Amino acid sequence: MKSLLITGGAGFIGSNFIPYFLENNEDVKVVNLDLLTYAGNLENLKEIEDHDNYDFVEGDICDRKLVKALFNKHKFDGVIHFAAESHVDNSIENPDAFVRTNVFGTFNLIDVAKNFWMHSPFQFNEGFENSRFHHISTDEVYGTLGDSGLFTEKTPYSPNSPYSASKASSDFLVRSYFHTYGMNVITTNCSNNYGPKQHNEKLIPTIIRKALSNDKIPIYGDGKNIRDWLYVLDHCRGIDLVYKNGKLGDTYNIGGRNERDNLYIANKICEILDEVQPKNESYKNQISFVKDRPGHDFRYAIDADKIERELGWKAQENFESGIKKTIKWYLKKYQ
Ligand code: NAD
Repeated sequence: MKSLLITGGAGFIGSNFIPYFLENNEDVKVVNLDLLTYAGNLENLKEIEDHDNYDFVEGDICDRKLVKALFNKHKFDGVIHFAAESHVDNSIENPDAFVRTNVFGTFNLIDVAKNFWMHSPFQFNEGFENSRFHHISTDEVYGTLGDSGLFTEKTPYSPNSPYSASKASSDFLVRSYFHTYGMNVITTNCSNNYGPKQHNEKLIPTIIRKALSNDKIPIYGDGKNIRDWLYVLDHCRGIDLVYKNGKLGDTYNIGGRNERDNLYIANKICEILDEVQPKNESYKNQISFVKDRPGHDFRYAIDADKIERELGWKAQENFESGIKKTIKWYLKKYQ
């Protein structure tokens, strides 16, 4: 049986990915290593906590002794690395944790994996020739776009927040392990995800929560910042495909071709709530503009041509279909 280490699996994307992966890969044992920071929540993994092919370990990717012991015990032949500090606003207030987990943690993990799988540069230990390290990254490493253009895999890195700078640093470390040691690495850079199980602090859960509790719905600046929104299960399908079929050492951008600005998103969510949970006035009246985030990137948009063409991936949801499913899930959670 194959043995896969997933880090950060109690977070938003990881806790959507693990149940998807277990269902579609019956021959793989998954160990989820997660520190359970404020962003990790085991409630999100209730559906698979007793699954025969699943183990949870509470711990830190920066803890070398622990990571080594896990490799020795489980003989992992793959890693999918989600663990990170991920909220841009927190990175402005408290960048230290981002450098520690995103940069040092990634280094620690990949270095232990390399030493377990390889005995010298480009030379694998027997049985680990196909062992792969898949690094989950973000489109924010590319910086910001103006009104036009798209991020491709060739767009130069230009990170603007401590979060995106820490992710860019980790991407470079992963890249260097391919070029220097010949390690089997792969990186995916994805656009903004949304869907069930996302932490309350993020934009879409905040809009839904504030709407339902009759509070003001806070929108940064003039609400014109644009993101390319991807339903989280489309991202999970993309990761699974790249992990299995992606080209060694390559990077793949994953995006839904669903550019929407923040104000559109708030209005759309309010419209759906007006339909499914009507009250005496529209939820739209709660939308209010707040002081912009410092250094707020204007627009991100992914060119997903490479993963679509080479691996046959395509987003199944558009924003309007995915947001309905998302709202349904949060209505259950918040009520
Ligand atoms: P999240 O913040 O919801 O979850 C992160 C998880 O990592 C949490 O469970 C947390 O407990 C764990 N963690 C944090 N520090 C750790 C440490 N030192 N050791 C072990 N575990 C630790 O994040 P997410 O939104 O699920 O994002 C997952 C990955 O995807 C991140 O690498 C992020 O950069 C990337 N990404 C996210 C998005 C998005 O829209 N959410 C988009 C593109 C890429």
